[in-house]
Amino acid sequence: MKRMIEVEDTGIVFPSGADIERMSELAQEWLGLIGEDPGREGLLKTPERMAKAWAFLTKGYHETLEEVTNGAVFEAEGSNMVVVKSIEYYSMCEHHLLPFFGTVHIGYIPDKKILGLSKFGRITDMFARRLQVQERLSIQIAQAIWEVLEPHGVGVVVEGQHLCMMMRGVEKQHSSTISSAMLGSFRDDPRTREEFLALVRQGKVL
Ligand SMILES: [Zn+2]
Repeated sequence: MKRMIEVEDTGIVFPSGADIERMSELAQEWLGLIGEDPGREGLLKTPERMAKAWAFLTKGYHETLEEVTNGAVFEAEGSNMVVVKSIEYYSMCEHHLLPFFGTVHIGYIPDKKILGLSKFGRITDMFARRLQVQERLSIQIAQAIWEVLEPHGVGVVVEGQHLCMMMRGVEKQHSSTISSAMLGSFRDDPRTREEFLALVRQGKVL
């Protein structure tokens, strides 16, 4: 069952099926295990804040593609490539539960259907707000667009900075990663893929 959760210091309100009470209890125990005193003043409200923050950071588990794209599929006028660049995302790596974040670039060639621009951000968030690896995030976004629009082709490029690499002091040289997923004509036609990648690269160094 979903209920509305408010994150006090941001004003964000969202529906969640997360068990905030139980998560708070575990967070309190966790604070003790890392060597803290969960009873000290500064930490009294931390378990509840942590539970609500985690409910937000993983809210994608409680969303469906249908809800997210509802009412925003329109008839296409042509079949030119549409590219939406630099959609910000924030996710949590499934190996360390530490953040990774960056930008997503999406391209597709419509076949009768297009999607309202803001929905690409919603689709990205739906998958980013779960435990992830960057490669799967790319593929899931591409497949979702494929499913909703049945386009001639779709391409997704994801750039990410991984705090699990940066904060733990390992493999700093690989802390920025690029992954991609190509379906339909983006996979089968090198010219289409190259046109998309050139548009993504425009104005930046990839
Ligand atoms: Zn990690």
